[in-house]
Amino acid sequence: MSNIVAIVGRPNVGKSTFFNRLVEKKQAIMDNESGVTRDRQYGEAQWNGKKFTVIDTGGYVTGSEDIFESEIRKQVKEALGEASVILFMVDCHTGLTDLDKDFANIVREVKKPVYVVANKADNPEKSFMAGEFYALGFDEVFTISSASGSGTGEILDEIVNHL
Ligand code: GDP
Ligand code: MG
Repeated sequence: MSNIVAIVGRPNVGKSTFFNRLVEKKQAIMDNESGVTRDRQYGEAQWNGKKFTVIDTGGYVTGSEDIFESEIRKQVKEALGEASVILFMVDCHTGLTDLDKDFANIVREVKKPVYVVANKADNPEKSFMAGEFYALGFDEVFTISSASGSGTGEILDEIVNHL
Protein backbone atom coordinates (compact mmCIF):
# COMPACT_ATOMS: atom_id res chain seq x y z
CA MET A 1 0.00 0.00 0.00
CA SER A 2 1.11 3.56 -0.50
CA ASN A 3 0.13 7.11 0.40
CA ILE A 4 -0.87 6.20 3.92
CA VAL A 5 -0.10 8.48 6.84
CA ALA A 6 -0.45 7.00 10.33
CA ILE A 7 -0.91 9.24 13.36
CA VAL A 8 0.42 7.56 16.48
CA GLY A 9 1.15 8.70 20.01
CA ARG A 10 -0.11 8.33 23.54
CA PRO A 11 -3.73 9.16 24.49
CA ASN A 12 -4.85 12.81 24.65
CA VAL A 13 -2.09 14.42 22.62
CA GLY A 14 -4.64 15.46 19.97
CA LYS A 15 -4.39 12.74 17.30
CA SER A 16 -8.11 12.63 16.61
CA THR A 17 -8.39 16.42 16.55
CA PHE A 18 -5.69 16.57 13.88
CA PHE A 19 -7.23 13.63 12.00
CA ASN A 20 -10.60 15.38 11.92
CA ARG A 21 -8.95 18.53 10.60
CA LEU A 22 -7.26 16.60 7.78
CA VAL A 23 -9.93 14.27 6.52
CA GLU A 24 -12.66 15.11 4.09
CA LYS A 25 -14.29 11.71 4.28
CA LYS A 26 -14.11 9.04 6.95
CA GLN A 27 -14.10 5.40 6.00
CA ALA A 28 -15.63 2.36 7.57
CA ILE A 29 -13.59 0.85 10.35
CA MET A 30 -14.70 -2.74 9.74
CA ASP A 31 -12.06 -5.34 9.07
CA ASN A 32 -13.92 -7.54 6.63
CA GLU A 33 -11.49 -10.40 6.77
CA SER A 34 -11.81 -11.10 10.45
CA GLY A 35 -15.28 -9.64 10.89
CA VAL A 36 -14.25 -7.54 13.85
CA THR A 37 -14.29 -3.80 14.21
CA ARG A 38 -10.84 -2.34 14.19
CA ASP A 39 -9.82 0.40 16.50
CA ARG A 40 -8.21 2.39 13.78
CA GLN A 41 -10.08 5.07 11.93
CA TYR A 42 -9.35 5.67 8.25
CA GLY A 43 -9.96 8.91 6.38
CA GLU A 44 -9.23 10.43 3.00
CA ALA A 45 -7.35 13.70 2.79
CA GLN A 46 -5.60 15.82 0.21
CA TRP A 47 -3.01 18.57 0.21
CA ASN A 48 -1.49 20.44 -2.73
CA GLY A 49 -3.46 18.19 -5.05
CA LYS A 50 -2.06 14.97 -3.59
CA LYS A 51 -4.50 12.48 -2.12
CA PHE A 52 -3.65 10.24 0.80
CA THR A 53 -5.20 8.08 3.48
CA VAL A 54 -4.85 9.01 7.14
CA ILE A 55 -5.03 6.47 9.95
CA ASP A 56 -6.01 7.63 13.42
CA THR A 57 -5.03 5.21 16.15
CA GLY A 58 -6.10 4.75 19.72
CA GLY A 59 -9.87 5.05 19.71
CA TYR A 60 -9.94 2.09 22.09
CA VAL A 61 -8.18 3.85 24.93
CA THR A 62 -10.02 3.50 28.22
CA GLY A 63 -8.14 6.14 30.16
CA SER A 64 -5.73 3.73 31.78
CA GLU A 65 -2.13 3.74 30.67
CA ASP A 66 -1.66 0.15 31.88
CA ILE A 67 -2.96 -1.31 28.65
CA PHE A 68 0.02 -0.04 26.69
CA GLU A 69 1.63 -3.42 26.19
CA SER A 70 -1.39 -5.41 25.13
CA GLU A 71 -3.56 -3.04 23.14
CA ILE A 72 -1.69 0.04 22.05
CA ARG A 73 1.38 -1.83 20.96
CA LYS A 74 -0.70 -4.15 18.76
CA GLN A 75 -2.76 -1.35 17.22
CA VAL A 76 0.19 0.91 16.65
CA LYS A 77 2.25 -1.84 15.06
CA GLU A 78 -0.55 -2.65 12.63
CA ALA A 79 -0.93 1.02 11.71
CA LEU A 80 2.83 1.38 11.31
CA GLY A 81 2.89 -1.67 9.07
CA GLU A 82 0.35 -0.09 6.73
CA ALA A 83 1.81 3.41 6.75
CA SER A 84 4.20 5.02 4.29
CA VAL A 85 4.77 8.03 6.56
CA ILE A 86 4.43 8.21 10.35
CA LEU A 87 3.33 11.21 12.39
CA PHE A 88 4.40 10.69 15.96
CA MET A 89 2.36 13.15 18.00
CA VAL A 90 3.35 14.58 21.37
CA ASP A 91 1.87 17.34 23.53
CA CYS A 92 3.49 20.69 24.37
CA HIS A 93 1.13 21.20 27.31
CA THR A 94 2.33 18.14 29.22
CA GLY A 95 5.83 17.95 27.77
CA LEU A 96 7.83 14.75 27.33
CA THR A 97 6.48 11.73 29.26
CA ASP A 98 7.62 8.14 29.83
CA LEU A 99 4.80 6.92 27.63
CA ASP A 100 6.10 9.15 24.80
CA LYS A 101 9.44 7.38 25.19
CA ASP A 102 7.69 3.98 24.97
CA PHE A 103 6.05 5.05 21.73
CA ALA A 104 9.35 6.39 20.43
CA ASN A 105 10.94 2.97 20.92
CA ILE A 106 8.22 1.30 18.86
CA VAL A 107 8.25 3.92 16.13
CA ARG A 108 12.03 3.83 15.89
CA GLU A 109 11.95 0.15 14.86
CA VAL A 110 10.02 0.97 11.71
CA LYS A 111 12.18 1.93 8.79
CA LYS A 112 9.89 4.64 7.47
CA PRO A 113 9.93 8.44 7.59
CA VAL A 114 8.91 9.62 11.06
CA TYR A 115 7.89 13.17 11.89
CA VAL A 116 7.53 14.24 15.48
CA VAL A 117 4.57 16.58 15.68
CA ALA A 118 4.41 18.63 18.87
CA ASN A 119 0.74 19.54 19.17
CA LYS A 120 -1.02 22.14 21.34
CA ALA A 121 1.60 24.75 20.48
CA ASP A 122 -1.14 27.33 20.80
CA ASN A 123 1.18 30.23 21.64
CA PRO A 124 4.90 31.10 21.35
CA GLU A 125 5.63 29.96 24.90
CA LYS A 126 4.22 26.50 24.19
CA SER A 127 6.04 26.35 20.85
CA PHE A 128 9.29 26.98 22.69
CA MET A 129 8.50 23.96 24.92
CA ALA A 130 8.60 21.74 21.85
CA GLY A 131 12.42 21.81 21.90
CA GLU A 132 12.48 19.13 24.58
CA PHE A 133 11.03 16.60 22.14
CA TYR A 134 14.33 16.52 20.23
CA ALA A 135 15.42 14.27 23.10
CA LEU A 136 13.29 11.53 21.50
CA GLY A 137 16.03 11.26 18.91
CA PHE A 138 14.22 11.97 15.66
CA ASP A 139 15.59 14.47 13.16
CA GLU A 140 12.89 17.08 13.17
CA VAL A 141 10.10 18.32 15.43
CA PHE A 142 7.19 20.18 13.86
CA THR A 143 5.12 22.37 16.14
CA ILE A 144 1.43 22.65 15.40
CA SER A 145 -1.87 23.55 16.99
CA SER A 146 -4.56 21.16 15.85
CA ALA A 147 -7.07 23.42 17.55
CA SER A 148 -6.20 26.55 15.56
CA GLY A 149 -4.54 24.91 12.55
CA SER A 150 -1.31 26.86 12.94
CA GLY A 151 1.75 24.99 11.68
CA THR A 152 -0.32 22.31 9.99
CA GLY A 153 0.53 23.58 6.48
CA GLU A 154 4.26 23.06 7.06
CA ILE A 155 3.90 19.44 8.19
CA LEU A 156 1.51 18.68 5.33
CA ASP A 157 3.98 20.12 2.81
CA GLU A 158 6.62 17.79 4.24
CA ILE A 159 4.32 14.76 4.25
CA VAL A 160 3.19 15.04 0.65
CA ASN A 161 6.83 15.32 -0.44
CA HIS A 162 7.22 11.74 0.79
CA LEU A 163 4.16 10.29 -0.89
P1 GDP B 1 -6.15 11.81 21.12
O1 GDP B 1 -6.46 10.98 22.32
O2 GDP B 1 -4.66 11.83 20.88
O3 GDP B 1 -6.92 11.42 19.90
O4 GDP B 1 -6.52 13.33 21.49
P2 GDP B 1 -7.84 14.17 21.12
O5 GDP B 1 -7.80 14.62 19.70
O6 GDP B 1 -9.03 13.40 21.56
O7 GDP B 1 -7.61 15.47 22.01
C1 GDP B 1 -7.41 15.39 23.41
C2 GDP B 1 -7.73 16.75 24.01
O8 GDP B 1 -6.79 17.72 23.58
C3 GDP B 1 -9.10 17.28 23.60
O9 GDP B 1 -9.67 17.93 24.72
C4 GDP B 1 -8.77 18.29 22.51
O10 GDP B 1 -9.74 19.30 22.39
C5 GDP B 1 -7.46 18.84 22.99
N1 GDP B 1 -6.62 19.38 21.88
C6 GDP B 1 -6.36 18.80 20.70
N2 GDP B 1 -5.56 19.60 19.94
C7 GDP B 1 -5.32 20.71 20.67
C8 GDP B 1 -4.55 21.90 20.44
O11 GDP B 1 -3.92 22.13 19.41
N3 GDP B 1 -4.52 22.81 21.46
C9 GDP B 1 -5.19 22.60 22.64
N4 GDP B 1 -5.09 23.56 23.57
N5 GDP B 1 -5.93 21.50 22.89
C10 GDP B 1 -6.00 20.56 21.92
MG1 MG C 1 -8.22 9.81 19.61
